[in-house]
Amino acid sequence: MARLAYLFDSSKCVGCHGCQIACKQWNEEQATRTTFTGSYQNPPSLSPDTRTIMRFYENFEQDTIPQLNILKVQCYHCGEPACVKVCPSGALSKTDKGITAVDAAKCIACGYCHSACPFTVPAIGKHVNKCDMCFSRTEHGDDKQKTSTPACVKTCPAGALEFGDRDALVAKAHKRVDWLKTRGHKDANLYGEKVLGGLGVMSVLKYPPASYGLPANPTMPLELFVWKDLFNPMGLLMLAGAVGAAAGHYLLARRQARDDHHHHGGDDSKGKEEMKG
Ligand code: SF4
Ligand code: SF4
Repeated sequence: MARLAYLFDSSKCVGCHGCQIACKQWNEEQATRTTFTGSYQNPPSLSPDTRTIMRFYENFEQDTIPQLNILKVQCYHCGEPACVKVCPSGALSKTDKGITAVDAAKCIACGYCHSACPFTVPAIGKHVNKCDMCFSRTEHGDDKQKTSTPACVKTCPAGALEFGDRDALVAKAHKRVDWLKTRGHKDANLYGEKVLGGLGVMSVLKYPPASYGLPANPTMPLELFVWKDLFNPMGLLMLAGAVGAAAGHYLLARRQARDDHHHHGGDDSKGKEEMKG
């Protein structure tokens, strides 16, 4: 099954927030009352009622070229998702299409996924909330009627969002980056192609990732790797060893008892003979 992905092109985004609204509408999430803080970024962060926001990085310092860098923030559907690895209840899983899926009914709201996520995306209310790649649309929608396209992608008026086969989107994104370079954006880059097993939401950026608040090389937390991949299997091995030792001891004891029984069996018959006599 080909892996699905989003491509967000920051150089095309006009910051209209249409994708945010479409996401809320499709997922039937409450609007939140916010206060104007002097930035176009609103609401200020992801929350149990908000699965995607447009993050605005504004740089209007004197003697520099003014920058208004926009990033679509949501679950990035990592190829190797830390949240799935850490979730103790099986509420998060990876589908063969590359969706990091959510089964809210299984969530125990422990918050481990939020802490483990390299982008601290999952929001915890009564249960976890994050983008699930419009699972109901991408899994059950109709390609011809475009009901299988995620709501945010379908609504974007600027063509800044695309969705589909990941390999095809990577090729397209590289062409766009090359084009941006010919237009003077020497730092243009594609974010998310390789990191964390390859992200399921890749971004074309005109400036280095740090100018959008993105870590250049996000990694899975080391302690998670140590706990899940090293310590846990060792714990299982130790447990298996203990069970094996107990089983061995039990078998030896049984054998001993059987030998004793045979040995005493002669005495029994002897006793019976004595009784007969
Ligand atoms: S908050 Fe829910 S989804 Fe996240 S790790 Fe805990 S049980 Fe899993
Ligand atoms: S709908 Fe498109 S243009 Fe509008 S904020 Fe979202 S990505 Fe940008």
